[in-house]
Amino acid sequence: MTVQKARSPSTPHRSSQGVRDFRKRTQHSGKTSGQQNNTAQKNAPRGAPQLYLGPATAQPCLILKAGREKSLQRRHPWIFSGAIERVDGAPASGDTLPVRDDAGNFFAWAAYNPDSQITARVWSWSEAENIGAEFFHGRIANALTTRREMKLADNSNGMRLIHAESDGLPGLIVDRYGDVLVMQISSAGPERWRDNIADILQELCNPVCIYERSDSDSRELEGLELRNGVLRGTLPDNVEVIENGLRFNVDVAAGQKTGFYLDQRDNRALTETLARDKDVLNCFCYTGGFSLYALRGGAKSVLSIDASGDALRIAAENLTNNNLDSSRAEWLEADVFQALRTLRDQNKKFDLIILDPPKFAPTAAFAEKAARGYKDINLLAFKLLRPGGLLFTYSCSGGISEDLFQKIVAGAALDAGVDAQIVHYLHASADHPVLLSFPEGAYLKGLVLRVES
Ligand code: SAH
Repeated sequence: MTVQKARSPSTPHRSSQGVRDFRKRTQHSGKTSGQQNNTAQKNAPRGAPQLYLGPATAQPCLILKAGREKSLQRRHPWIFSGAIERVDGAPASGDTLPVRDDAGNFFAWAAYNPDSQITARVWSWSEAENIGAEFFHGRIANALTTRREMKLADNSNGMRLIHAESDGLPGLIVDRYGDVLVMQISSAGPERWRDNIADILQELCNPVCIYERSDSDSRELEGLELRNGVLRGTLPDNVEVIENGLRFNVDVAAGQKTGFYLDQRDNRALTETLARDKDVLNCFCYTGGFSLYALRGGAKSVLSIDASGDALRIAAENLTNNNLDSSRAEWLEADVFQALRTLRDQNKKFDLIILDPPKFAPTAAFAEKAARGYKDINLLAFKLLRPGGLLFTYSCSGGISEDLFQKIVAGAALDAGVDAQIVHYLHASADHPVLLSFPEGAYLKGLVLRVES
């Protein structure tokens, strides 16, 4: 099977979740903790938070501005630099600090990072808690118990084991692909505890390898170096995940994110049930997840588009490894924005279209530009659908709310001149739980729409 190539745009990756949203670019101030003084940081680089540093000899503590305790009282785990009155003592990045108001009332233990606009992330709300190896053991064991209780399908061996803030472990993601764990650290707190966390995962999960993919751009925004390599054990030559009986190669070292998009597992399964005898278009297909499910579900044809040639090569291998009919599959390396226009100009039509783009809006500040992108691809997709056709459309942008996404899609349908009904509201699979007090955890939203016949 060949992969057709249109042109090679840059390939932004989709983020795993919304934990990094609302963060602005920051840099190291260049100061060590011992150099702190009790004046404002006059020479801080542009974009770095302006923190007022209290007496260096005082007990390390983060003091909130009056009236800025509300979000903590609602148990939201982020403390933005703007909410901080001053930082006492001489804490270093990654240290655990008590968070108090000026009167000394305790709110939380939080991991400190002076280089981030999210200057502290809460580990615990209990003053009696000791943030150490035992604490992490408890949190990780708890996350694993939740996953066990959720009972993955027997014919799947891939799962998100730790979903950062939503599992009480801000900045830490752990994905399991069979016997291999991939760990991604995106903030200074878990960076400090990295070795303890690896030991605990080894003890509780006994994987053949723990691989670290701490190489997302957001690490630079946190002043952390990029890391990509084996942490424990040996990486097998081929890592494979089995999802609802389908086998996918996972490039843990060089693939996107931790190598695979586990969050779409249930939504891919839904696609399979609706694909029979349909001409399917899968946009932003990565390693072919939705495409393989559609083929197994009896699709008449599946055209899959992605800008990454590497991802498409794995997709084509995945198809072969699952003994699916390659004559019904076509792979196109192209920019989806362009490809949709070309298909429209060629008057091509489809019965089922999937749009699963990368994150267009990392923060609410990007929402307007992102909205134009979403509207564009959804409008084009509506035009390519036959009457009665289905559109599976997703957004993984933390900066775009579910409500706004629905409005954008409604606007696209209106401009395309089609009437459509929502037949499903979709989210990430259950191994990506969302902490009630942390709505940012619900980064992935999807709609299935049926256009009028
Ligand atoms: N649906 C996939 C995950 C998609 S992730 C799954 O189920 O596994 C987003 C994908 O969009 C990535 O593979 C990335 O390479 C691709 N991408 C990003 N920008 C693109 C563009 N402009 N045109 C085509 N593909 C793009």
